[in-house]
Amino acid sequence: MTQEHLTRRGFVGFGAVATLTALGGFSLPSLMEPELADAYTLHNYYQSKLTIYYKFDSSVSWSDTMGKRIKDGYNHAINVWNSALNNKTMTKYGKKYRYEFKAANTSNPATLTLSRYSKKNDGKRGHTPTSVNKNLIKSATVYLNATEITNATLSKHVATHELGHVLGINHGGTKNSIMYVKKDRNDNIVKPTTDDINAAYANLKKTVAYAIKPVQVPGSRKNSKGLGYAGHVQDLGDAASVCDGQTAGAVGYSTRLENFRFVGIPYPIARIDVEVHIQGQGWVKYTNIKASQRLGTSGKSLRIEAIRIKAYDRNGKVININYQVHQQDYGWSAVKKNGETAGVTGKSLRIEAIRIWLP
Ligand SMILES: [Zn+2]
Repeated sequence: MTQEHLTRRGFVGFGAVATLTALGGFSLPSLMEPELADAYTLHNYYQSKLTIYYKFDSSVSWSDTMGKRIKDGYNHAINVWNSALNNKTMTKYGKKYRYEFKAANTSNPATLTLSRYSKKNDGKRGHTPTSVNKNLIKSATVYLNATEITNATLSKHVATHELGHVLGINHGGTKNSIMYVKKDRNDNIVKPTTDDINAAYANLKKTVAYAIKPVQVPGSRKNSKGLGYAGHVQDLGDAASVCDGQTAGAVGYSTRLENFRFVGIPYPIARIDVEVHIQGQGWVKYTNIKASQRLGTSGKSLRIEAIRIKAYDRNGKVININYQVHQQDYGWSAVKKNGETAGVTGKSLRIEAIRIWLP
């Protein structure tokens, strides 16, 4: 049977890759590619990063006639995939993301190696052994068989097909797809078609879901009084705790703060009362809160819309406490204190981050 794809046999045939895989602790992909073609199909493997850095294997020749032909094929494949992927972006947190092949550099080492070999009558024109960890493609090497690739068009055709496997696409699609099964595929096709691009897009969504998360950027403190707190953010979960006016939550990702909690309550505070305006619930009161008590909801996808905080010493005397919120459409609110409302209610706007401190 002709082999032109990611298979377990690919590892057996290439000891170096199998060794690398074993050292890296990755599991071997168990990939069978039935010679079936209907709609496009995926391997359940996808890239962990949106940019796939590649290099040409320096241990083989690229200057002879066959080497030049294969290198041209790879460069063509990179260009046609990049322009196809450039038109297939997805948006998350207000930003656009896409797959892209880029030449590796010192700060971005290659996870994709483009190589060649020459073997007569082995029935392969190219194949792509891949190291994976769970569902993630960690690295791949494409091998094109110079002996089988007898002209420039075939080089472009096979290289473009193999880069589809690098993106985690299985054989499938329609008859004109670059990822169509080999025995029926037209060797003159030299770029991905709609089915191929849709398959790449399906994996793009998985990569974005894996790789792009909101990030909390705490910033500088107002002082060192030791008032500690932490936020729970949509898609991020419990963010690391911060203190004394640093930012808890994520700004710039359009993600809601769902709850927050105090993790450090310094002397002379003896009691804190909090009110939280929760989506669909209105004002909820938390009296004499405990450290780490969640203020707001968890696992319900409900935004906080406004907060009020009041602190007291052991004699019931008010201790000044300041706070402000970062809210959808408004940005940072004015600084509020001692039970004043920070945030806007009645407009269905999420709070995204908060800052709290003792003045
Ligand atoms: Zn294939």
